[in-house]
Amino acid sequence: MFDKILIANRGEIALRVQRACREMGIKTVVVHSEADRDAKYVKLADESVCIGPAPSAQSYLNIPAIISAAEVTDAQAIHPGYGFLSENADFAEKVERSGFVFIGPRPENIRLMGDKVSAKNAMIKAGVPVVPGSEGALPDDPAEIVKMARAIKYPVIIKAAGGGGGRGMRVVHTEAALVSAVNLTKGEAQAAFGNPTVYMEKFLENPRHIEIQVLADEHKNAVYLGERDCSMQRRHQKIIEEAPAPGISERERTRIGERCAEACRKINYRGAGTFEFLYEKGEFYFIEMNTRIQVEHPVTELITGIDLVQMQIRVAAGEKLPFRQRDIQFAGHAIEVRVNAEDPFKFTPSPGRISWWHPPGGPGIRVDSHAYSGYFVPPNYDSMIGKIIAYGTTREQAIRRMRIALSEMIVDGIQTNIPLHLELLHDTEFMKGGTSIHYLEQRLARAAKR
Ligand code: ADP
Repeated sequence: MFDKILIANRGEIALRVQRACREMGIKTVVVHSEADRDAKYVKLADESVCIGPAPSAQSYLNIPAIISAAEVTDAQAIHPGYGFLSENADFAEKVERSGFVFIGPRPENIRLMGDKVSAKNAMIKAGVPVVPGSEGALPDDPAEIVKMARAIKYPVIIKAAGGGGGRGMRVVHTEAALVSAVNLTKGEAQAAFGNPTVYMEKFLENPRHIEIQVLADEHKNAVYLGERDCSMQRRHQKIIEEAPAPGISERERTRIGERCAEACRKINYRGAGTFEFLYEKGEFYFIEMNTRIQVEHPVTELITGIDLVQMQIRVAAGEKLPFRQRDIQFAGHAIEVRVNAEDPFKFTPSPGRISWWHPPGGPGIRVDSHAYSGYFVPPNYDSMIGKIIAYGTTREQAIRRMRIALSEMIVDGIQTNIPLHLELLHDTEFMKGGTSIHYLEQRLARAAKR
C-alpha cells in the first residue's frame, strides 16, 4: 500500500479522499490554489503545496505544477477526484511517465471513453444497449445529415463527442432547424472542448437518468454495485441522486449490471467507473461512461457498505477486489442532495463568507462538506459546497430523514439551494419516485408562470 497520496482537487472531494487515506493510514499531500489556502482540509493534510493563483487554468489544471508537487513531497500516487484533470488522459499518462501511480483507469481507457463517439462504439461492441443515432461522427454534407435525422426521426439531439458537464448539446425538433443547429454545436464544441466532432442521437422525450457503478481490478475481476437514479436535473446538471432507483426490479438490475461488468472486462478496465444510461419504457440506453469517482458515489456506499474511494486506492495499488459479485448485497435506500451556493430559484451564484454553518446530524445522516462557519466560498469554482446524504431502511424513511436534516441545517451569509431541495422533498411526484430528467425544469417553468 502507498505511504503518501497527493490529492489533485479541491473542496468536498479533496476532503473525502483525505478521509479515506487517513482511515487507511496513508499520509496526504493537498495541492491548492491561492484562493483555497485557508481551507480546513488543507490544514488537516500532512503536507500542502500551493500550485498557483485562483483561476483553475493556472492551478488545478496546471499539470507540471501538480507533478512537481508530487516530486518534492515524495508522494507515490495521485488521486484526481472528479472534474478538473480526472478524465484527462494526457494527465494520467504524464503522471505514470513521471513514476507515480494514477488512481484511476489506464490512460487508453480514459481516452476511449472521453470521446463519446468512440465510447458508444466500444459499448455497441461489448453488447451494451445505446441510444439509437448516427454511427459515429456526423459527416460534413448537409444532405447526409438531413437523411440521418429523417431515419432517426425527430426530435434529435446533436452532441459534442468531447462534451461534458452538460454542455455541448442541442435538441432539434424540425428539419428546418437541423443544419444550423449542427453548425452551431460544432462551433461551440471546438471553442469549449477543442474538438468540433459532433454526433446525433434520438432525443428521448421522457427518460430517467439511471447509472451503474462498477469497480474493476487488474486481475480481471469486475463487479457492479447497483444503480443510482439521477433524474432530478437542471440544465443537465444533477441535483438529487438516489439508490436504488425507484421501481427498478432485481432482474433489470442484474441484467444491465452484468452487461456493464462484462464491458469492463472486455476493455480491460481498472478502478471505479460509471455507465450512464437513459431509461425509458423499461429499456436502458447508454449515453456515456465516467472514468472517475462521481459526486453521487455516497448513495452507493450507503446501500452496499463499500467505501468506493478506498477501493479506488486499493485497486490502484494492484490489490485484488476483496469481494465477488455474489458478496455484494444491497440494503436500504439512500438519497443525496447537492448543496450549492446559489439563489434557490434564480440560480445565480452566491459566493462569499459563510457567517454561520450548522450542519445536520442524527440517525442515517451523512454530511460530506468542506464548509464551516467563517469559510469563504471562492467565486472561482463550481458552486457546490457540500452534500447531505440520508439513509433509511425504506425510501420513505430516507426522505423523512432528509427533510429533517435540511430543516435543521443553517447556512448564513450566502444563499443556498436548500429551500428548493425542501420543496422537492415534499413534491408529490418526487415522493412517488421515477420522475423524468425533464421534471425539475418543467416544474420550475410552471412556478415561474405563477
Ligand atoms: P455530459 O457528459 O455533458 O454529462 P451526457 O451525455 O451524460 O453529457 O448527457 C447529460 C444529460 O443530457 C443526460 O442526463 C440527459 O439529461 C440529457 N441527454 C443526453 N442525451 C440525451 C438523449 N439522447 N435524449 C434525451 N436527453 C439526453
